[in-house]
Amino acid sequence: MRLVQSSALLEQARRRRIRIDRCELQSAVELARLAASGEHEEFGFATAVDWLRITLHMREGDVRDRLFVGEQAGHVPASVAAMEAGEIGFGHLVLIAKTRRALVDSVHQTLSFDELQLLACAREESVGRFYYTCENYRYACDAAGYAEGAIGQHLLRELTIRRRRDGMSTLWGRLDPVAAASLRSALAPLARRQGKDDHRSFKQRLHDAMTERLGAAQEARINITMSVETLAGLKGAPAAEIEGQPPIAQPTSDRLSCSGSLRRFVLDSDSVVVDVGRSRRVPSPPARSALDGRDQGCVWPGCERPASYCSPHHLVHWARGGSTDLDNQVLLCYFHHRRVHEGGWQIFRDANGQITTFRPPPNFELRETPGADPGAAA
Ligand SMILES: [Zn+2]
Ligand SMILES: [Zn+2]
Repeated sequence: MRLVQSSALLEQARRRRIRIDRCELQSAVELARLAASGEHEEFGFATAVDWLRITLHMREGDVRDRLFVGEQAGHVPASVAAMEAGEIGFGHLVLIAKTRRALVDSVHQTLSFDELQLLACAREESVGRFYYTCENYRYACDAAGYAEGAIGQHLLRELTIRRRRDGMSTLWGRLDPVAAASLRSALAPLARRQGKDDHRSFKQRLHDAMTERLGAAQEARINITMSVETLAGLKGAPAAEIEGQPPIAQPTSDRLSCSGSLRRFVLDSDSVVVDVGRSRRVPSPPARSALDGRDQGCVWPGCERPASYCSPHHLVHWARGGSTDLDNQVLLCYFHHRRVHEGGWQIFRDANGQITTFRPPPNFELRETPGADPGAAA
């Protein structure tokens, strides 16, 4: 019974969608006529798109799509008929119209636009898949024009890092296809969940993957400034600072100075620099190789992060008397290194090299709450 009902509902939805698509086509033709009239200036708008977008409560991209269809509808009659018959959707028609327009506009076109070839694909493919078919078709007809378009697109690339009032920063960008693919392939493997105990959201994991990746690149050219008291972990000591950033809390400055991807400046009580560098805490290249060779990767039980993404952790922090000998160091990945310094976990290695970890006590103040996603609540 339920099957019958849903198939009847589906048929009803399909018929309604065809009617909506036909209305969209009529609307597109109207919008194109309005845009061609040039009347937007009389209404005080700089462009026809702005005029229509604001007057008709539409998104800019939606207006542009309809203008393509309205302009091109007379040149793609078979596609219009196929849409009216419900064989393709309005989304397919938008792509066909855009492809024709791009080819007609191009001065380099080597093959003429073949509507029927594209329409045959549109009948078989989803709108999402058909987008790539149209792009490939455009390339086949007009490789030089496509390359020109790619150069124009590349000019639009941008990336901004903006400080927020709360001390966090917002990263926003428009990446060209190669940059986007590189970023994705660089971060995706590191953004996977690290065991069932890993309660970070995907967005948080992606953030951490970026931090981990950049840390692995080594030689990050950032400086951390801290006082002798901070380094010793004394009560009332001022916070460590990274240039241009708000104060860094003690557990984090401990972690940063532990692994050594930063250059540190230690100041005495008169703000005189008493120690610069990182030779004491960062293993020399042969020592790091020995550490990599011994630990192979993150030593946290169950973690499989390879050595190249890990940083050395001093079981007893070097600023509190821990040695820089291999015995006092283990490799930890970003996630587990954070767990130790900021998360209150403890990690030990016994005489046989066996690693043991202990959860923080339930009342541990700095514990990073599992499952918490501040971004979701904001
Ligand atoms: Zn550490
Ligand atoms: Zn790990």
